[in-house]
Amino acid sequence: MSAHIPTLLAMIVFISLIMALSIVVVGSERKRDGLGWWSAALLLNAIGHVLFMLRDQVPDVLPVVLANVLLSCVLTAMVVAVGQFQGRSLPWGALVIPPALVGLCTAMFSSDYLLRVAAVCIVLAVQSLWVLRVAVDRRYVAPGRGLWLMVAGLSTEAVILGNRAWIAAFFGDSATNILQSSLLQTVTFVGSVVVVLICSLGFVFMLRDRADETNRRLAALDPLTGVANRRLLLSALYRDIARALRTRAPLAVLMVDIDHFKKVNDQHGHLVGDAVLCHVVSVLRTHVREQDVVGRYGGEEFLLLLADTSLQGAVQLAELLRKAVEATPYLLASAPGGAIAVTVSMGVFGGPLQAGDTAERLIDAADRALYRAKELGRNRVEVADSLQLPTEKSQGAPAVRAAIAPGA
Ligand code: GH3
Ligand code: MG
Ligand code: MG
Repeated sequence: MSAHIPTLLAMIVFISLIMALSIVVVGSERKRDGLGWWSAALLLNAIGHVLFMLRDQVPDVLPVVLANVLLSCVLTAMVVAVGQFQGRSLPWGALVIPPALVGLCTAMFSSDYLLRVAAVCIVLAVQSLWVLRVAVDRRYVAPGRGLWLMVAGLSTEAVILGNRAWIAAFFGDSATNILQSSLLQTVTFVGSVVVVLICSLGFVFMLRDRADETNRRLAALDPLTGVANRRLLLSALYRDIARALRTRAPLAVLMVDIDHFKKVNDQHGHLVGDAVLCHVVSVLRTHVREQDVVGRYGGEEFLLLLADTSLQGAVQLAELLRKAVEATPYLLASAPGGAIAVTVSMGVFGGPLQAGDTAERLIDAADRALYRAKELGRNRVEVADSLQLPTEKSQGAPAVRAAIAPGA
């Protein structure tokens, strides 16, 4: 079973051009994500296969040497595209070696088709594995199905090329030039059509996967401190409350507010204020458990959600955190004494919940305790005495309502 090779070559040219054009149009503003290099790879692929199609009409050096060098450049451009997408520095010196090697082999074996095929296929198979390695090496940059699609495409390409190399070298082929039909040629070029499609789709999906991940992070995390933003915090609180009601396990909520933070901004400027906020967050995060949620509730107010934690445990942790913040001033050379002393006040709610205990009530209780800690002199921990329905004057409640309204 063998197909008409010029038709397959024309298909590869057509698909490569369409994909290159689509990527150029869709990704015109995202060249630094590697899309520019990927479309360049597809364009080179199209040109290389056009030269193959012109095998009998142009000087031999074009289809025999240049076309194969271009195919090697395709894989080089793919390495560059994936590397650029991942933001890594590239070994430019090493990247030119495979195309140079292909040029050398094709020139050396210009009169021996099978030897030429074997040599070129070995280099291209290794290059396919190189692209694969670069992609998988930093898979955390875009974990997702796009990457695995690309891995599937590249490993298929490596297997096809590897097989073609040793079959051509050891068993020969009925085809004696690139345009003649044979099973080996058919498998190679049908494979190329599929691989171009799969790898290009995989790369585009990798970009989409990363964009999705970035959007998810932006929607869930506070951009300054990197902790959960109010939206994520409240949805985590809902989840914890529902679980605590179901399992009757205790739940604790800590409201943390930096003392006299306005003074930090006034004396040192807002940029230093921002850095102090991040500093306090890092001290808090160092001391909480993996499963605890730290989130930014407001300007310099943070909420800590401690699942499965009794009031006693929460107060102990709050004291530990308070002391840790007090003992860790923010180091700043330009500040008097080389550091800015920071303290926090905390309101703690903790214990088992009862039906009707809502996020609003818990936050309000912790907030009232925090208010008392401020009144009693700051740099201290106060415990919420009861869960009351928030009044209309309550500071926390309307804001919570706004943030948790459907669609907020
Ligand atoms: P208290 O001890 O009573 O809490 O006093 P305070 O000065 O900390 O409280 P207040 O609420 O009066 O001030 C909070 C300040 O936090 C005011 C606001 O400018 C500042 N702030 C809020 N968000 C940010 C931020 O993202 N960056 C910086 N630098 N400052 C912020
Ligand atoms: Mg404050
Ligand atoms: Mg405040």
